[in-house]
Order: sequence, then C-alpha cells, then structure tokens
Amino acid sequence: MILQPRDVGWIEVICGPMFSGKTEELIRRLKRASYARQNVQIFKPDIDDRYEADSLVSHSQVMLPSVAVASLEELRRALSPQVEVIGIDEVQFFTGPVVEFCEEMADSGRRVVVAGLDQDYKGEPFGSMPRFLSVAEYITKLMAICVRCGNPAHRSYRLAEDPQQVLVGTADQYEARCRRCFRTGYSSSNPSSHTT
Ligand code: ADP
Ligand code: ZN
Repeated sequence: MILQPRDVGWIEVICGPMFSGKTEELIRRLKRASYARQNVQIFKPDIDDRYEADSLVSHSQVMLPSVAVASLEELRRALSPQVEVIGIDEVQFFTGPVVEFCEEMADSGRRVVVAGLDQDYKGEPFGSMPRFLSVAEYITKLMAICVRCGNPAHRSYRLAEDPQQVLVGTADQYEARCRRCFRTGYSSSNPSSHTT
C-alpha cells in the first residue's frame, strides 16, 4: 500500500521499456485524479507524433486528452495556475531543466506524475531519467514481455539501424526484449551498433 501524502506535493515516476504499459498506467492514475475532481493537466512532447496530437494513446489504444508541447517553456506557458496534478508522458524526450521544473511543481504542493523510458535502445540511461529516479518519492518500474522468449522484458531493442538516440518508436521499429535476447540480437545480427 502506498501512503498518500497530505498537503504536500510529490513526484511519481513510471518507467520501463517500450510496451511495458507506462502510458496506460499514467492514464489510469490521471483518470483517477479526475474522478476525485482534481485539476489535472497532461502533457507530452510533440516529438511523439505517433498518434493523436491532442491525446495520450497507449499501444493498446487507451486514450486520454493531453497537450503536445514543443519545449519545457511551452509547457510552462500552457500550465494552469489552478493545476493540482501534472502528468507528463515520454518525459525522457524533454531537454532543459525538466527535473528542476517538476521539483518546483512538487515543492509548490502539486502532484507530478512522469512516465518515460529509463533506458535507450543501447540499454543506457535515457536523458533526465536517472535524476528523476533519484529525486522522486514514488517509482514504478514496469516490464513488457520479451517478444522472442516470453520472459519479462526490461529493454527496448531497436530493429532499425540508426545511431541517433531519439528515433521515435513505432511497434515495427522496436521490440521489447529480455536481457538475454537483447544481447543475443545485437551480437548476432548487428554488432557495430551496440557497445557495452
Ligand atoms: P508504453 O507506454 O510503456 O510504451 P503502452 O501503455 O503504450 O506502453 O502500451 C502497453 C500495451 O502494449 C500493453 O497493454 C499491451 O496491450 C501492448 N503490448 C504490445 N506488445 C507488448 C509486449 N511485448 N509486452 C507487453 N505488452 C505489449
Ligand atoms: Zn527473451
């Protein structure tokens, strides 16, 4: 059971690989906050144009309205002074002081729920996620199912050969893989793109 803080803000992190249910979990939490009549705002980076511009959409088509923003500055401008709960999906894509921003929001009494990839396609920590994981009060690390062997999967395996870290994912470009299948995949088919 999670003890719910009273009269203070806090930061929750939902992390894991692609397909692990981060967006679904974020939507679930924010819907419950809405049912409790709290003032909720949901943001996502507009780099994530996989689906609708004005909604969070999970891989299983669960949806919730959201605001796509190009930057942290734009997010700040869109923020309502009355907001009580702030959700941010794909938070690893935000550059700039996004951790400081969330700390500031939590310090001012808001609940902040961020979801994002903790590892990139090489298995390296992604963007600001390590810092989020150290400053947050609550952390949920989800796993997907390895599409190769059925084990729990904590990594996102990139099928396309492209060395940039930010290659916005669709189901046909990435696979959820366990530790063993992740490693086997890169050493057998694609050795140059992976360093350990
Ligand atoms: P994330 O935000 O972590 O990428 P989503 O919440 O968008 O994940 O989607 C999770 C959903 O993806 C699951 O409920 C399931 O329906 C679907 N899914 C597709 N492939 C997998 C997989 N390999 N492992 C687990 N779920 C998968
Ligand atoms: Zn596997």
